Amino acid sequence: MRYIRDILAEKHALARPMISFEFFSPKTDEGDRTLLEKTIPTLAAFKPDFCSVTYGAGGTTQDKTLMITDRIQRQHNIVAMSHLTCVGATQEHIRGVLDQAHGHGIKNILALRGDPPPGEGFKREPGGFEFAKELVEFIREHSGFSVGVAGFPEGHIDCMEGKHVDWQRVKMKVDAGADFVITQLFFDNAFYFEFRDYMADKLGVHVPIIPGILPILSASQIIKFTKLCGAHMPAELLARLEKFGADDEATAAYGVEYATRQCESLLKSGAPGLHFYTLNKSKSTKRILQNLKLR
Ligand code: FAD
Repeated sequence: MRYIRDILAEKHALARPMISFEFFSPKTDEGDRTLLEKTIPTLAAFKPDFCSVTYGAGGTTQDKTLMITDRIQRQHNIVAMSHLTCVGATQEHIRGVLDQAHGHGIKNILALRGDPPPGEGFKREPGGFEFAKELVEFIREHSGFSVGVAGFPEGHIDCMEGKHVDWQRVKMKVDAGADFVITQLFFDNAFYFEFRDYMADKLGVHVPIIPGILPILSASQIIKFTKLCGAHMPAELLARLEKFGADDEATAAYGVEYATRQCESLLKSGAPGLHFYTLNKSKSTKRILQNLKLR
């Protein structure tokens, strides 16, 4: 399996956008089967450059994360990346996870601080890490991985000093050895462009900054998500969601239309590609990719 840094360099040289899909670790065996036997095969038809698998709250899904990442690589022959977080983990524990990942032939890790369990603030585990940058440094010392990190076009919600200070910290993660950045979801491309340009022009960060795209599936769900991560919802989008109310079918159809427009503008303005938060569902992502005629 390849390193994502090499895939991104190749795509850049060919002036072709990369496509990736993010999945979360299902909580049930049935969820695993649906993901591995239906969702991924449907999306594999679009020849993603890689897929990624999230690491659950408090590290609770770590075995599942590695298992799903491994199965994507072995069963579907797609490069896959495991997310890894600092929540509740000592350095020794993280070293064990990296050894296991290495044993599975996993070559790509998204290094994150992680979300603490609901209702709790982030607390550094004794013997663990406080910030994702330290995790990047640790993974780098153990070699054999291409490392990605998270970036926040509107600034990270916990960063009280404002987005420019938060973006300095993204630079610190890149300086520590991250090969690429994947962004938090956003619904106004202006935030992405400002972030990307600031990182390059003001901070001299030139690794690929991959926009994260979330196809909206339901109004209540997206309001919950944006509240958690602090993403701004443009007035036009809010008005449409209000109009559709609990009609998830109409909302998802509009979500496809909205994300298609977002992706077209991002690619036209030089984004290196698109990372889709699939929420383990294929329908909307598939329709967006068909609209974009990318594959
Ligand atoms: P960091 O880079 O450590 O930043 C966290 C906060 O600390 C920020 O406010 C930053 O400004 C501040 N900070 C950083 N360095 C310093 C410093 N030296 N001094 C003071 N403050 C500092 N969560 C999961 O639990 N599992 C997942 O699988 C997962 N996948 C994700 C995938 C993507 C693409 C994204 C965008 C997010 C994902 N998250 C996931 C959520 C993420 O873990 C949270 O948003 C988390 O709160 C921040 O993670 P980070 O890696 O950006 O942390």
